[in-house]
Amino acid sequence: MSAVDLHARPSRDFEAKLAQTQQLLVRAAAEFAPLKQASSLGAEDVVITHLINGLALDIPVFVLETGMLHAETLALLERLRASSRTPVEIYRPSNESVVTFVAREGKEAMYRSIELRKACCGIRKMEPLERALAGQKAWITGLRREQSNARAEVPLVDTSDAKRVKLNPLADWSWGDVWHYIGANAVDYNPLHDQFYPSIGCAPCTRAISLGEDFRAGRWWWEDEAAKECGLHVKHEEKAAA
Ligand code: SF4
Repeated sequence: MSAVDLHARPSRDFEAKLAQTQQLLVRAAAEFAPLKQASSLGAEDVVITHLINGLALDIPVFVLETGMLHAETLALLERLRASSRTPVEIYRPSNESVVTFVAREGKEAMYRSIELRKACCGIRKMEPLERALAGQKAWITGLRREQSNARAEVPLVDTSDAKRVKLNPLADWSWGDVWHYIGANAVDYNPLHDQFYPSIGCAPCTRAISLGEDFRAGRWWWEDEAAKECGLHVKHEEKAAA
């Protein structure tokens, strides 16, 4: 059974949510340029890229290619680059930083402590993210309130970071809405979703989940729930406190 068969269940007000999302993207392109979409190539992100392409908006997409992605994710990235109207940029970590870190801590350092896992995310995700967003007024993410307790307050337009606005056009979409859109529009998606991976990140840090498990249970599953963000979506003030 495919993820579309399993999950596609639109909310009663799906059409209104879709219209709101489209309006926000059109407004964002006009008001917040230059801006980019951050894509992990997960289900939410392929929906947003599909909408950007469908609306012919001048919003490039970028992907953080950490060097640890699944083969399925890399194949989807190639297909997206070939089919997307809007440019798809790839940002990779500094080779020197990766080589030094792996030589010092080993390839499986992330399992040894939260500090080492965050150090790996820092090198492979956070530094490339800073480069990707340099000079941008805003960025677009696929965050949804339903994804986890830590994301329950996600606003459509987040102005809490003085550096740049974060737009979350799917903030109030359900998982059923996301898959309804994918199914109805034949959007290309990561086949790992058909193997019970709702949230897909780097290969060593992502596993499939079982029925009834929490949405993000397959990410950094050896850590406490509270620690489960890679830093990409940690609020400015929380970063400062840390
Ligand atoms: S998700 Fe895992 S492999 Fe990827 S950057 Fe973070 S710690 Fe490293």
